[in-house]
Formats: sequence, C-alpha cells, structure tokens
Amino acid sequence: MNIAELFKHKKAVYSLEVFPPKKADSIDTVYNTLYGLRGLPVDYISVTYGAGGSEVQRSKTAEIASLIKKEYGIEPISHLTCVGSTKEELRETLENLRNIGVWNILALRGDLPAEGTPVMAFSHANELAAFIKEFDPAFNVTGACYPECHVDAANLDEDIENLKKKVDAGVSQLTTQLFFDNEIFYSFRDKVEKAGITVPISAGIMPITKKSQVERTVAMCGASIPPKFARLISKYADSPEALNQAGLSYAVDQITDLVANDTRGVHVYTMNNVDTAKYVTQATESLFKGVNKV
Ligand code: FAD
Repeated sequence: MNIAELFKHKKAVYSLEVFPPKKADSIDTVYNTLYGLRGLPVDYISVTYGAGGSEVQRSKTAEIASLIKKEYGIEPISHLTCVGSTKEELRETLENLRNIGVWNILALRGDLPAEGTPVMAFSHANELAAFIKEFDPAFNVTGACYPECHVDAANLDEDIENLKKKVDAGVSQLTTQLFFDNEIFYSFRDKVEKAGITVPISAGIMPITKKSQVERTVAMCGASIPPKFARLISKYADSPEALNQAGLSYAVDQITDLVANDTRGVHVYTMNNVDTAKYVTQATESLFKGVNKV
C-alpha cells in the first residue's frame, strides 16, 4: 500500500529504518537484520541512501527495498538524495524503482561534504520532490523535518517556511530527525500546523543502547539531551547491560507518550540492531493496536 494510504487508514503508523551495509561489510548483514525482523507488526520499513557512497553501494538501497516488499510483504520506502547524483542518474533510479514496484521515496537533499563541491542534481529536497512527482505522479513522496531546526537554517521559522515548500512540491508525509525530548516535538508540531502544513508527521526515535552512541548521535544531529535522559546515561555509563536496558526503556516511554499525544507515526532508527528493534516493537505493539482499533 502507498504510505499515504496507510496514514489515511491508521491513526498511528509504526515504522523502522534500516541501512545498507557499509563498504567493508557484506550485504548479508542487512539481509540477516531483515530476516530477524520478520513477522514483527511493522507498517513500513525505510532504507537509507548513502549520498557519499559509490554507485554500487547506492544501488543497494533499491535492492533492499525490493526484498522487503517481495520477501517479507512489508511496504518499503527507498531514500534518495540530490547530493551525489545528476538528473540523468536520478531518472535512472526512478525508472528502476518503478520497475521493481517500489513506489515510496523519501526525498532528501543529503548532507553536504565538508570539502569540495559534490555532484548535485538539485540544491534542495523540495526540487527533488517536484522532480519525482513530475517523473511519475504515482510515486508517494516523504520528506524530512527537524524539530530542533536544521543546522543550515537561520532559525526554526525559516526552516518551517522551507518545509512548506517541500509539502507544496508534493510531499505527503514527513519524518523527523531523531529527538529525545517529546516536548520539543509537540512544540514543533504546533508551529508546523500554524504554518499551514497538515500532512502527517512521524516522530523519529533512536533507542540509545551504548555510551558511544550518545556522543556520536548528538554530534551528528545536535539533538538535545533532557535532564531525565542525561541522568540515565551518567548513572549507567560504566554498566553496558544497565545502559542498554535504560536506553530501551527510555525509547519505549517516549513512544508511549507520543502515541498518547496523537502522534500520527513513530519511526524507529534501528541501526540494523535486531534485538533493539524487536524489543521496542514488541513493547509498544499494544499501544498501536489500541489507538488503531477505535
Ligand atoms: P532540505 O529540505 O533541502 O533542507 C536543507 C536546508 O536547506 C535546511 O536548512 C532548509 O531550511 C533549507 N532549505 C530547504 N529548502 C529550501 C529552499 N527551497 N530554499 C532555500 N533553503 C531551503 N541523508 C542521507 O545522505 N541519506 C539518507 O538516507 C538520509 N535519511 C534521512 C532520513 C531522515 C528522516 C532525516 C531527518 C534525515 C536523513 N538524512 C539522510 C540526512 C539529510 O540528508 C540531511 O539532514 C540534509 O542535510 C538535509 O536534507 P533535507 O532533505 O532535509 O534538505
């Protein structure tokens, strides 16, 4: 089912994100992840796209998305970036996605490399979204959004103005950057609604299960760490098992609160960790069943 239809039929949609293996790892690593996730009650799975990777690596995104659909019967979203591709290459990718029956795309700009000028079909994701819809209006397009403001934007108001351009270009739903403080998300959701953006927004949640993940994640996306979460991290910093349990519980608590506050979707960044994805999915399954049965 087209992801937009899913959001029409369900009050709260539950999804996961996986990524293709890094250069040195075998493709089997993600196949094993997907095999481990089989049977879980998941509405869709999205597959990231390595903007800086080689053509071979980038083609894995579509391959994995196709496998998710054919082998596991779950709707996939294939990520796609402006960075790293020419318009001609984007056209080829879209042709391929259409041929293999992958109709959902997360249209992204991609991160700009620290040095050099990347090949870049478009400057912003709204142009890519419009390009995809023009190529074939049957594609369903998702966009990214940032409750704590995208790093390149002068402020959140400007970022939301730009977000509106993405939705006007044909984006039917949004997925947020990960966050640890639900209040920041609720405030963002209010501002976005006031700006006239009414498409469903899925909240991006990353369960933190290792100390090293905290620094890496914060450096990567600048998510604020609320005091309650900071206390858990510092309390269990030297006890990996306890930190793993505390991180999983924190993510489950976040999701419990989000579902109770009418969040239209929750998207879990699994980091290809089957145990984490299983734990969080099973611990929150009844919440989604509860809101979707009414
Ligand atoms: P844009 O929407 O283009 O926004 C980028 C900046 O430009 C913002 O500051 C915005 O305010 C501004 N802007 C937007 N439109 C305009 C406009 N028309 N005129 C002027 N300014 C504008 N990266 C990958 O490489 N691969 C992935 O698979 C991937 N998956 C992601 C999934 C999610 C859910 C999220 C939140 C991010 C993901 N990223 C991925 C990271 C993403 O590529 C970066 O955050 C990137 O820096 C911005 O992408 P964007 O699509 O949000 O860009």
